Amino acid sequence: MALIVQKYGGTSVGSIERIRAVAERVKRWRDRGHQLVVVVSAMSGETDRLLNLAKQIQPCPDPRELDVLLSTGEQVTIALLSMALAACGCPARSYTGAQVHILTDNVHNKARIRDIDAARVRADLDAGRVVVIAGFQGVNEQGDITTLGRGGSDTSAVAIAAALKADECQIYTDVDGVYTTDPRIEPRARKLDRITFEEMLEMASLGSKVLQIRSVEFAGKYRVPLRVLSSFDEGEGTLITFDEDNPVENAKISGIAFNRDEAKLTVLGVPDQPGVAYQILGPIAEANIEVDMIVQNVAPDGQTTDFTFTVHRNDYPQALAILRKTANCLGAREVTGDATIVKISLVGVGMRSHAGIASRMFAALAKEGINIRMISTSEIKISVVVDEKYLELGVRALHAAFGLDRPS
Ligand code: ADP
Ligand code: ASP
Ligand code: MG
Repeated sequence: MALIVQKYGGTSVGSIERIRAVAERVKRWRDRGHQLVVVVSAMSGETDRLLNLAKQIQPCPDPRELDVLLSTGEQVTIALLSMALAACGCPARSYTGAQVHILTDNVHNKARIRDIDAARVRADLDAGRVVVIAGFQGVNEQGDITTLGRGGSDTSAVAIAAALKADECQIYTDVDGVYTTDPRIEPRARKLDRITFEEMLEMASLGSKVLQIRSVEFAGKYRVPLRVLSSFDEGEGTLITFDEDNPVENAKISGIAFNRDEAKLTVLGVPDQPGVAYQILGPIAEANIEVDMIVQNVAPDGQTTDFTFTVHRNDYPQALAILRKTANCLGAREVTGDATIVKISLVGVGMRSHAGIASRMFAALAKEGINIRMISTSEIKISVVVDEKYLELGVRALHAAFGLDRPS
């Protein structure tokens, strides 16, 4: 008998028919003698619908109130799934995040899980029930509802699996595993049977939304055995492995990630002197805006330099306003910005021991006439920023250039 945590995403619970299919799948696992905890997302489109309602009232609603609203989506699906389970002869109980004490910090809309009280869940499991828990939500120390950021149900599932020391955490979604790149962008993408935890972490942090980054961080920290599978088909899916010595099929590159939510800001003609980077980025950090890539040019005249950085597109207007103020104080020449850029990244632990990956990447992009605007590298990834109109072309060109295509 194993203890299994299963998570079903929005499309997987997107209709009554799909919820019934999930209940049947859960029942099949239980009939094999396993204990099941099921974490669900809101029905597909529901979180966006709720966000839209809020924005019709206020462009930037109070984050606390937004969490109260957004958490309702998952409350609907836990109840419906528990009913569907009961209807197929599988005793079940639903719980909101607060009811099972998914304690988070106070950062509304992007809260982090601190602790989970597993006792109530264990009691139900011991009584032979399936436990159905609302993903994406928790509660802070004041008892206020918090949410974990878009895609946060993945993190709820992994955190619950860690708290219960589950034998496996299975993330059921609308694709049958992790692919070499998003199969919706490149139909020739190949499903990976295994991917190392480190590579999955990079893929998620660079924009692959198949798993929320924090869920992968949790899995790494607590060594949760994690698998991504389809809720529409049967199959083994993709196992996230901790076996670093055996990277994916010994490939140099295991995947290509991309992020459409990027924006770039540049301040031109700032004095080239100590403290400038801090003066530019300090106020951005104070506004809780995360900065991703940073490039400072060499000062050609020895006096002034240009400074460019990227932020999430949602933060772009605020970052631009802050930067304009700073630029004024610094006596900079000009501030420019561009919210029509994307980031494409090559990921692979095999990259460490192979030279020439970057030049092959740049050659493949040049062949398609794609201009690279920024570049950044780490041990196991190379990222480039390009105009958003080149996203599909760039991903497909790199996919082919590195031999990731499915053999046809
Ligand atoms: P869910 O609602 O089940 O959480 P998501 O839409 O959040 O599903 O994540 C699944 C989607 O992730 C897929 O439909 C696919 O378009 C996208 N995706 C992005 N990168 C990858 C990848 N490398 N492998 C598989 N899917 C990916
Ligand atoms: N319902 C939330 C969202 O759409 C959380 C999730 O699906 O993981 O982002
Ligand atoms: Mg998701």
